[in-house]
Amino acid sequence: STPVAVACGIQHAARLGVVIKGGSYLEILAKIKCLAMDKTGTLTEGHFRVSEVVAVGETEDLQQILYWLASVESRSSHPMAAALVTYASLQDVVPSKSVTDFQIIEGEGVSAVVDGHLIEIGNARLASRLGWSNTAITKLATQTATMGWVGKDHQLLAVFSLEDHVREEAAEAVRSLKRLNVQIHMLTGDNNETAQDVQSKLGGVTVHAGLLPQDKVRIIQELKENAGVTGMIGDGINDAPALAAADVGFAMGLAGSAVAMETSDVFLMTDDLRKLGLVVSLGRRVRTKVI
Ligand code: ADP
Ligand code: MG
Repeated sequence: STPVAVACGIQHAARLGVVIKGGSYLEILAKIKCLAMDKTGTLTEGHFRVSEVVAVGETEDLQQILYWLASVESRSSHPMAAALVTYASLQDVVPSKSVTDFQIIEGEGVSAVVDGHLIEIGNARLASRLGWSNTAITKLATQTATMGWVGKDHQLLAVFSLEDHVREEAAEAVRSLKRLNVQIHMLTGDNNETAQDVQSKLGGVTVHAGLLPQDKVRIIQELKENAGVTGMIGDGINDAPALAAADVGFAMGLAGSAVAMETSDVFLMTDDLRKLGLVVSLGRRVRTKVI
C-alpha cells in the first residue's frame, strides 16, 4: 500500500476510536488469519456478581467464612475480588484490619495471613493442588459459573460461584470476524465448563481453558505456526506476554490496565468488540488501495 493510503487508514481508524500504533500494523491487520481472545473482561464484561457461597463441613458459619474471604479479597485487584467484598459487606461483614503476606498465586488465586491464619482462595487448580475436595462444587446450584474454593490453614471451608455476562456485542463481533475468514480462539484461566458456556453464546469459537499465562503464550505461538498471522486481544496484566507474542496485540477500553495498553499495538478506546472487524476490513481496503 502507498504511504498516503496507510496514513489515511490510520486516520480513519482513529475516527472509529481505534489507535493503530504504526502503518505496519495496518498491513498485519489486513493479513490476520486468527484472533485469540481473552475471556474474562474481553468476551465478557468482567463484572462479577456472587451467586452463592456454600460452607463445606460444619467447622465455621457462613458469616465467619465471609470474613476470611473478604479480608483477603479486599487486597486483590482481580475482578472476582470486588464482587466477593461487596457480597460480604451486604451481609454486614467487616474485613479484618490485620491482613499480611498477601500473595497472588499465579494461575490459581490468592492467599494472605488474616488474624494469624493462612487463608487461601482460588480455582480448581488450587483446590486440587491442596487436596481439597473437587466434588464440593456439587453443593453449588450451577456448574457453569466461575467457581472458587476458600480454605483456612490448609482446610477447605467453602466453595462459591460467581457470574459474569458475555458482552452484548460479542456474538455480532465474532460473526463479522468469521465472515472475514478470521478464526476465533478463546483463551482463559477459568474452568472449561464456564468457557464452554460462553462459547455456546457466541458460536464457532475454539475454547482453550484452564490456562496459565505461559500457556497463553504457547498457544499464540502454535496458532502463528499453524494458522498464520495471529492477533491477541486481552485486558489483564497477565495477558501482556500473550499480547507481545502475537503478530498484533489488541487492548480495549479505558478500564484496560496500563500494561495492556502499553503492550498493545492496536488500542480500542471504547469497549466495543465490533471495532475489531471494522479495522480488519479497513486494513484490507488499504492494502488493495480502495480507500
Ligand atoms: P484470569 O483471571 O484471566 O482467568 P488470572 O491468572 O488472573 O487469570 O487468575 C487465574 C485464576 O485464579 C482465575 O481464573 C481465578 O479462578 C483465580 N483467581 C485469581 N485471583 C483471584 C482472587 N482474587 N480470588 C479468587 N480467585 C482468584
Ligand atoms: Mg485475566
